[in-house]
Amino acid sequence: MAQPRIPAARSAAAGLQAQNGAASASGSPYTNGPVQNTLMSSQVSSSQGYDSQLPGSYPRPMPAKTLNPFSAQSNYGGSQGPGQTLTSPLVTSSPLPPSLHSGPVPRMPLSTSQNPAAAPMPSGSFLPGTNPPPPLSWQYNYPSTGPQTNHFPHVAQPTIPENTNLTTDHQYVSSGDPALQTSFKKPGSALPLQNPPLPPTFQPGAPPGPPPAGGPPPSRGPMLQKTPPRAALPPSLNSAVNQEGITSNANNGSMVAHSTYDEIEGGGFLATPQHVNQNPRTSRSVGSAYPSLPPGYQNSAPPVAGMPPSSLNYPSGPQAFTQTPLGANHLTASMSGLSLHPEGLRVVNLLQERNMLPSTPLQPPVPNLLEDIQKLNCNPELFRCTLTSVPQSQALLNKAKLPLGLLLHPFKDLVLPVVTSSTIVRCRSCRTYINPFVSFLDQRRWKCNLCYRVNDVPEEFMYNPLTRVYGEPHKRPEVQNATIEFMAPSEYMLRPPQPPVYLFVFDVSHNAIETGYLNSVCQSLLDNLDLLPGNTRTKIGFITFDSTIHFYSLQEGLSQPQMLIVSDIDDVFIPMPENLLVNLNESKELVQDLLKTLPQMFTKTLETQSALGPALQAAFKLISPTGGRMSVFQTQLPTLGVGALKPREEPNQRSSAKEIHLTPSTDFYKKLALDCSGQQAAVDLFLLSGQYSDLASLGCISRYSAGSVYYYPSYHHQHNPVQVQKLQKELHRYLTRKIGFEAVMRIRCTKGLSIHTFHGNFFVRSTDLLSLPNVNPDAGYAVQMSVEESLTDTQLVSFQSALLYTSSKGERRIRVHTLCLPVVSTLNEVFLGADVQAISGLLANMAVDRSVTASLSDARDALVNAVIDSLSAYRASVLSSQQPGLMVPFSLRLFPLFVLALLKQKSFQTGTNVRLDERIFAMCQVKNQPLVHLMLTTHPSLYRVDNLSDEGALNINDRTIPQPPILQLSVEKLSRDGAFLMDAGAVLMLWVGRNCSQNFLSQVLGVQNYASIPQTMTDLPELDTPESARMIAFISWLREQRPFFPILYVIREESLMKAAFLQNLVEDRTESALSYYEFLLHIQQQVNK
Ligand SMILES: [Zn+2]
Repeated sequence: MAQPRIPAARSAAAGLQAQNGAASASGSPYTNGPVQNTLMSSQVSSSQGYDSQLPGSYPRPMPAKTLNPFSAQSNYGGSQGPGQTLTSPLVTSSPLPPSLHSGPVPRMPLSTSQNPAAAPMPSGSFLPGTNPPPPLSWQYNYPSTGPQTNHFPHVAQPTIPENTNLTTDHQYVSSGDPALQTSFKKPGSALPLQNPPLPPTFQPGAPPGPPPAGGPPPSRGPMLQKTPPRAALPPSLNSAVNQEGITSNANNGSMVAHSTYDEIEGGGFLATPQHVNQNPRTSRSVGSAYPSLPPGYQNSAPPVAGMPPSSLNYPSGPQAFTQTPLGANHLTASMSGLSLHPEGLRVVNLLQERNMLPSTPLQPPVPNLLEDIQKLNCNPELFRCTLTSVPQSQALLNKAKLPLGLLLHPFKDLVLPVVTSSTIVRCRSCRTYINPFVSFLDQRRWKCNLCYRVNDVPEEFMYNPLTRVYGEPHKRPEVQNATIEFMAPSEYMLRPPQPPVYLFVFDVSHNAIETGYLNSVCQSLLDNLDLLPGNTRTKIGFITFDSTIHFYSLQEGLSQPQMLIVSDIDDVFIPMPENLLVNLNESKELVQDLLKTLPQMFTKTLETQSALGPALQAAFKLISPTGGRMSVFQTQLPTLGVGALKPREEPNQRSSAKEIHLTPSTDFYKKLALDCSGQQAAVDLFLLSGQYSDLASLGCISRYSAGSVYYYPSYHHQHNPVQVQKLQKELHRYLTRKIGFEAVMRIRCTKGLSIHTFHGNFFVRSTDLLSLPNVNPDAGYAVQMSVEESLTDTQLVSFQSALLYTSSKGERRIRVHTLCLPVVSTLNEVFLGADVQAISGLLANMAVDRSVTASLSDARDALVNAVIDSLSAYRASVLSSQQPGLMVPFSLRLFPLFVLALLKQKSFQTGTNVRLDERIFAMCQVKNQPLVHLMLTTHPSLYRVDNLSDEGALNINDRTIPQPPILQLSVEKLSRDGAFLMDAGAVLMLWVGRNCSQNFLSQVLGVQNYASIPQTMTDLPELDTPESARMIAFISWLREQRPFFPILYVIREESLMKAAFLQNLVEDRTESALSYYEFLLHIQQQVNK
């Protein structure tokens, strides 16, 4: 057996330097115009951010040359190159294409940014040329375009001669009976499509259309200004700057898309006047005088199936709470918060105590705060910090050599209080939302816990709608809940809330049809059509593509859907744009008709080419006027048109840590994603492919548009039934889960702290405003922070995230989470408060960036060094006596184990068994998963389950749920006479030993003997035995705790899945990786140097 590779000497490694997704504190405000591409400013990021902030922590700045290691390519993703700017305005006055009937068929002006081939751009710039028109108005349900001459056939795809006038003509061809087909040529010839009576889209300058049904009124009442506006503000801001950075112009009674996305969510320092909003919409349930009923405080969100609300206990009723003084004495005597857990003060010698893994799920540390404060704190599932005791200076942080950052799961499914109030109380200086950790100087004044400004308490806030008592501002729900949601008044809107828009883009090439995926997806859509989040305004549309692009007219009144084919993929335009995205309610039968027909339409196709890039361009144009969600299904490497890619995976290089292609080969997908982001559209990519498909390039379309990536390697409807089942389950969740549209998120922190790097799927607009065209409840985010100014005089710091979004019901809402933590002055306290899961999660995010900007081996070395550096610091500065062994604070007892698990995770492992797309997907997951899922994926939970008992079981709603102890991830813990369940987050693996008891086989698996366990078994029978009931209860309970339904694989010793099971036994040695004990010895050696 080959000797496992010893991690490189630490001198070889620089620290982790996060850049990807990084935005530094640079950049001009986002104005719907030129956008400072902060993502591309790595030098700014590195020089102002991580390196300079943590010189001691990560003392080796990356060599300059590595800042742009891929300059030969299109200067992409890793955010290399300073000062790169999006030069092209995202909004121009260029009109949308006029209606199709008017003479030559117009084309939408094609942004050269979408066609790099046509206009190669200098590496330092982005998006030259024109841009799609702004979403200035709302287009709904244009009247019928008249009699339809083209009918949708139920037969095979029409054959379009290839290369027929591809460069000069567009062809509309209705499929089906050739006699019914109509070819349209452009330009010059009038289309037989009947005259749409209205231009398909809003013409700038024209009066805006009527407000959408269900939307807010287009105007709002006059606003009272309590304080004079800042002189420096431009006039337009005076009337309508608003808190989430969105401006509405009330002058002419219409909502206008102002170019002021700059200060989302309030912006940091644009002090804006408090408005007393008199919009009838926002005061519909609570008037300015707080009518007695209904209270403006409601638990409106229903419990979400599968996410027991009991896991998140928010105070929901009136509480007898007098505000805890937040000044002095908030800290109890040193470490008293930990005194309940004396074990927390213990120093552990890991070489002696090898099993430090708790037998129950690891709980996050509790911040060392007075109980009255801590009980109001944000739930750690939503918001947690790597260091629950924040070092008071950067010097102290540097000494600890631990990363300081936040991990967020802001849109998690949960029940939370919703406030409908005419006044959202925020700090006039820093725009922080009032929260449980502000202090009231008296009834009329409160002091901001982030910037310390003293603010007035608005009159309305004096009344407590819960108790209906006047004069208790500190008992308002906003001051009693660290997690709360506000119904946003109209000044939080840039335009009327957008309708839910769902656009599906399907690969229908021969390869795609071969996999059989279309059947599954269409069936799933049919099943879930009525469950799509939305309202009467919901719109839906479909595009399919192979070497051409196919649109489907679903206009109400048609007897059948009508297919339109555009074969000019070099200059894609949208035929009949008004009939392609249709109101779901009005056209439901046509939609259902299409979904039933679609899988059969292409069964005989011989078209192998894939024009994904042009199809995405078409989808972008179609969705631009409203924004929304694009769900793209792709099964191969795109081969035609813009965005075409070449295979570049070389299997024999998989083992090399340096030479693999983690960076995109084109910037097409990133640029298109940024275009989408500007139009409030997100792209979710479903990749179902057995072949290399260059996910490193394709994934950018989702990453920068705030979408998600789903990957089903080797999907096949017959050969891979478990993938089929997985896709079905995940689609159900995907289609029915909550969704927020046109969202932005900002994270604020107490003065003195500074956020410098962001991780997740989004685009960073202005300084620290995350643009999230879609937000979903399964997405996680992380940020890195530094201590810019000494916090010596500060005892508490707070962090607040504010997510402004449009719900699928068309409500503008703001979800706010606030976390409060103590500041400490000694290294020991910093270590005692370390949150090892959060630290590991943040390091994983940083390591992904490092892999992309430098190399995989650099990232691996940096992970190892993170352990060595922090434990060395602990040994040198905290431990009084130098004992032999590897001494760690109790809080970090699992740090080496989790880092070793990361090194063996698909993202970072070496060896030949990870395919490139799988690795990239794992990296996408690291970046986009909430921490709890990332940790389960990295370090799964292992249970012995052949002997489940009721001892120590949970009792929930009359269900008895066994709680077997969690075992170490080592083959030593397995035995052939047992059965073991591994919970790896997205999958559950049940390994059954060859000599497993007959009782388990028959009473749980329902089989006669070991040999009769099916090769592919993904379901347990529900048998009428206590053993079966316990097993089912346990597995159901595990599944209920996560949003996606994890598939259960039953694994016999000779199963193919066995390798995956063994791979997760991270404490064991493999050919390419150390065992846990070997790893500890290596760490010890380095620490004791
Ligand atoms: Zn403030």
